Formats: sequence, C-alpha cells, structure tokens
Amino acid sequence: MLYLVPTPIGNLEDITLRALRILKEVDKIWAEDTRVTKRLLNHFQIPTPVGAFHAFNEHQITSGVVDQLKAGATFALVSDAGTPGISDPGFLLVRECVQEGVRVECLPGPTAFVPALAASGLPSDKFHFEGFLPHKKGRQTRLQYLSALPTTFILYESPNRLVKCLEQLGEFCGPERPACVARELTKIHEEIRTDTLANLAVYFKEKNVKGEIVVIVGGA
Ligand code: SAM
Repeated sequence: MLYLVPTPIGNLEDITLRALRILKEVDKIWAEDTRVTKRLLNHFQIPTPVGAFHAFNEHQITSGVVDQLKAGATFALVSDAGTPGISDPGFLLVRECVQEGVRVECLPGPTAFVPALAASGLPSDKFHFEGFLPHKKGRQTRLQYLSALPTTFILYESPNRLVKCLEQLGEFCGPERPACVARELTKIHEEIRTDTLANLAVYFKEKNVKGEIVVIVGGA
C-alpha cells in the first residue's frame, strides 16, 4: 500500500489526524526533501524512517520502491508542502503502482490552489489547473492557450516573477480580465487580492513581493 500524504502549506495546524497516524504507522516515508520532512516529523514526534524521493532520483528508484511495495511494505509519499503529485513528484510512482496492482490511497489535505480558488471570488464551478508556466520555451504558446479558455485558470508562480507574469497575462487576456493573487496562504501574512490584471500588476509592482503565490484568472 502506498499512501500519498498531504502536508501543511504553511500552518502546521492543517495536518490531519489521519495524516499523523499514517505517517506513524508506515514502514518508511519517502520525502521530496528529507530535511524539511524531518522537521515536520520532529515537531509531531514521529520516529518513522525517511528516504529521499525527488525529481532528481525518481526515475532511478521508482521500480525499486514499487518492488518493495509488492513484497508487502507500506510506504507514505510526502512532498515539502501540499499534496504529492500536484506540481510535485509523485506521478511516476503512482503510475507504476497502478500498473503493477499496488494499492494507492491519497489522503485529503492541504493543497495551495484549492483555498486560493475558493476564496478568490472567481467562478469555481469549472476550472483549469496549469501549475507553473515554462520560463522560456513554450511560454507564449501556453499563454495563448490559457487566454482563450472559457473557464477560470490557475497558475503557480514565484514572487520574483509575479509582476512579469501579471503583465504578460494582461497582454494575452486583456488588462481588464478579473484575476486574483493569493499569497502566503495559511500563514501570518496571507493576502488574497482580486482585481483586474492591470490593477494587480500595478499594485504588486509597487511592493517588494515575497512568499508563495497562486495566480487565478477568470475565463475569457
Ligand atoms: N504540492 C503543492 C500543492 O499541493 O499545492 C504545490 C507544490 S509547488 C512546488 C509550490 C508552489 O505552490 C509555490 O511556488 C506556490 O505557487 C504554491 N504554494 C505553496 N504553498 C503556498 C502558500 N502557502 N500560499 C500560496 N501559494 C502556495
């Protein structure tokens, strides 16, 4: 059995009782960054062994991990924050588990885009999750595609690229398109600002933007 265990995106109170129990019970926790996960485990006094499973070794170790699962091991997979497999490692391992008949369960829990979308005031009945845009090659093509979508769409973005991203979105979607920037969700400096793309670009240009960011844009 493989458990995908979501972990807090800022506020440690967001870990679930079930996540804590599963993290205690499994034979091993595979973690994107073992140091980050060990800090979480120390906080909750969980002594389970931790191994590294990240973008740089997942191709090499996935088959070995699946073999251990087939032999009867029970593992948890965690990322640094949020839900594994959502703009984080996990897909390769889950796909191989599914192909090999290993049971996979994903616990419900924190993920950044859901609270951002729900609190944005933008239509949430249908949406497209884009994750991170490519920095260079393919960026214009994705922006073109996104700008024509009839539904709300969601991006993950870094603080130093936010203003450029909002300006480019304004060029492709039009400056008056409604959008939302959700920053530092669940943390002390949480900020959720909904306005036009043009106004958001001006507002964040004047600020020294810090923290983690979800950008949500209304449909065409
Ligand atoms: N697996 C995670 C999830 O379930 O949301 C996402 C991991 S991805 C590598 C990290 C990105 O998620 C950040 O760059 C940011 O765009 C977004 N993010 C994570 N935590 C956030 C927070 N507290 N507030 C806003 N965005 C956040």
